[in-house]
Amino acid sequence: MAINYICRHCRTPLGSIDSAQVTDMQLGLHSLTPAERRDIIAYDLSGDMTVKVICDYCREALEQNPELSLVTSPLQ
Ligand SMILES: [Zn+2]
Repeated sequence: MAINYICRHCRTPLGSIDSAQVTDMQLGLHSLTPAERRDIIAYDLSGDMTVKVICDYCREALEQNPELSLVTSPLQ
């Protein structure tokens, strides 16, 4: 099983890791609420996990255009 990171805005693949090597704690996922986990973590049919994060490009765009965040409501 792998953990795939994609940008939640532009869907750019940001890398993947073998989940056997990491725990929720190391990923920082343990601090999420159940609702947040549902929002940012998805499982596909093969059991792989997709974590939606924000890439550098979109983070920069959001910083320059904060009103964009009202549309997509990213995690801070
Ligand atoms: Zn992006």
